[in-house]
Amino acid sequence: MVKVDKKTCIGCGTCPGVCPEVFEMGPDGKARVKKGADKKAKCIKEAIKSCPVDAISN
Ligand code: SF4
Repeated sequence: MVKVDKKTCIGCGTCPGVCPEVFEMGPDGKARVKKGADKKAKCIKEAIKSCPVDAISN
């Protein structure tokens, strides 16, 4: 299941940029998986590759 490690995320904003249907920025300034997001969206792979600190796992 796709998830963001909040301890590792530096809040760069890249993952919601490349995969807005799955990721959003939370009030804590860290990325999170949207409620009801399509966990099989193709852009998840792209987001994982794009994260500078490897905070996204699937
Ligand atoms: S790309 Fe990585 S560091 Fe940037 S907001 Fe997403 S999870 Fe956080």
